[in-house]
This record gives sequence, structure tokens and C-alpha cells, in this order.
Amino acid sequence: MSSMGRRDLFKRAFGLTAGLVGMSALKPLYASDEMIIRGPDVPDVPVTKVSDRCYYLLAQDPEPSPQNFGFFSNPGFIVTSEGVVVIDTGGSVQIGEMILRQIKTVTDKPVIKVINTHFHGDHWLGNHAFVKANPDVEIYSHQEVIDQIKNGSGEFWIGFMQRNTDNAISGTVATSPTKVLKGGEVMKVGDTTLKIHHFGRVHTVADLAVEVVEDQTVYSGDMMMRRIANMADGSYLGSIDAMDQLAALPAKQFIPGHGKHDGQKLITDFKTFCEVVYNKTGEYYDEGMSDFEIKPKLMEEPFMKDTASQWPGYESTLGKYVVVAVQEYEKNMF
Ligand SMILES: [Zn+2]
Repeated sequence: MSSMGRRDLFKRAFGLTAGLVGMSALKPLYASDEMIIRGPDVPDVPVTKVSDRCYYLLAQDPEPSPQNFGFFSNPGFIVTSEGVVVIDTGGSVQIGEMILRQIKTVTDKPVIKVINTHFHGDHWLGNHAFVKANPDVEIYSHQEVIDQIKNGSGEFWIGFMQRNTDNAISGTVATSPTKVLKGGEVMKVGDTTLKIHHFGRVHTVADLAVEVVEDQTVYSGDMMMRRIANMADGSYLGSIDAMDQLAALPAKQFIPGHGKHDGQKLITDFKTFCEVVYNKTGEYYDEGMSDFEIKPKLMEEPFMKDTASQWPGYESTLGKYVVVAVQEYEKNMF
């Protein structure tokens, strides 16, 4: 084995260990100039301004890869008179640091609060960077996010991100929120009012949406998106119901966890998608079809042909969506 090969192997093994155990414990043993103990810095992603106070970084890619360093979901931030509130922190300490750099291009105010919209790792593994930058930062989420991290979901997500990025997130330590939101709260932050919304099981059981009242802008996490993604933790009926509740908010702009921000069309598109998948799956299921027979039938639906087929992940992930729809339909029959 060449020395290069051995070092690569070591880097891999170390990357995983650092994720599991945390870097500080291992640093005295392994730190040396020759060894790579951290994944590379993530290239800057330009800031998109949506309204007076509301910004986000648009992720172009639908999945984590070595090329995007695991950057595939949209972190957001709200600039208030008192400081910055960050909505979702990306999937690594390096992405968190990149978000901090981008915030600095807009304001010198410190980040005082972070809100994680749910427990999928691409929305909270970057917390590490915000605690490093400001140990007093307050990190909020639904209780279920904290429980899942306590029960090992951090290890799962670090492993998932490491495998898919060629260990680009090495050095990231799973850093849990400590403050709980359950929906219904109104947070006054300087000149800005944040209303927290929770609609039950939607994309997960833990989704929070953040309404920035003065700006009529809503950060909706993964409750809706223009992407075919993981529905395994979610509910079609819950999503359809949540779309009605989001549509009823006095908001003009919605910033999703994946894909570009938009107005009400984001809601109506995702609602139609869920209705077509769930209702048609139910009809075909009642006719005795199996999920692999249902998928091509679904693809004939006008909304799927005209709109959903343009979304990233359509070909590769629609089958999984149908399986989840069948499971939910069966569960609701009895
Ligand atoms: Zn998610």
C-alpha cells in the first residue's frame, strides 16, 4: 500500500470517528500538519434577498455529493434590529461557517437565535458552527428533534453525509438544539415578530414554519418543496392539510427547504402533487394494483406530466413515494 493510499484510508476512518465521537476528544491524539482532520471549506453560495429582513442561500443540487460538499438544502436568515435569527444551518460545520460568512456580507449583527425546522440532518448539523461562533446562541426546535438526536439520529446523519460527500463533513459534531418550540409561540426579536407554526405530521412529526409577520414571509422548512424527496417520515393527508393552513397565513412569500422561493403557487403545486399521488394511488390500490403497477399510471396524470416531472428526483424517487402512499392508504382503511 502506498503512503498516499494509507493516508486516504486513515482519513476515511478518522472522518467517521470524528463525526461519532467529536473532534475535541480526539484532537490531542491525532492533530498534526500532515493529517487532514477536517473536511474542506465550502465555497460561498450567494445570498438571495426575499424581503426587507428575510434572506436565504439557494441550494441548486437536490442531493448531497462530493462536488457540493453536502450543500443541498436552503439555510435562511432574518435580520432584526437586535441580531440575526438563522433558520436551518445546513448539513455540516463547514456549511454553517459558510452561512456565517454570507451573513457578514449583509450585516455585522451577531447571530442570536437559530431555529431548526425538523430533524433531517441537512437542516441542523451546521448548528456546530453557530455554537462555535457564539456559545450563547439559542438553538430552538420541536422537542422531537432533540429526542431524535438524543437517540442517535446525529450518528445516522453524519454517516449518511460522510458516505455521500466522500467525507467532506469531517470534523462536524452533532450539536442538538436546547430550546423547545411546539407551535403557536410569538417571538419578539427587536423590531421583528416571528410566529411559529406546527401542523402535526407533515414532512415529519417535528416540522416548524416561521412566519416573519412584518415581511409577510414564511420559512416553511420541508413541508413543501419542488423536489421529489424523502416522504418516509411524513404524511400525505397531513401535507394536504398543512398546505391549506399555510395558504391561510397572511404571507406573500414562502421560502422552502429545497428549491426556489415563491408565492402561493408553491403551496398549490405541492398540494396538487400530494393529492394526485395519494388519491390516485388509493384508486389503483382498490383496483388491486401493486405499487410498481401504480407508478406508470400516476406518471400519466396531467400534473405529473406537466409539472412534477420537471422536479429533481422525479424519475429516481417517485417509486418510493408510491410505496409510502400505499402504506398510508392501507393504514387509513382500518
Ligand atoms: Zn427534510
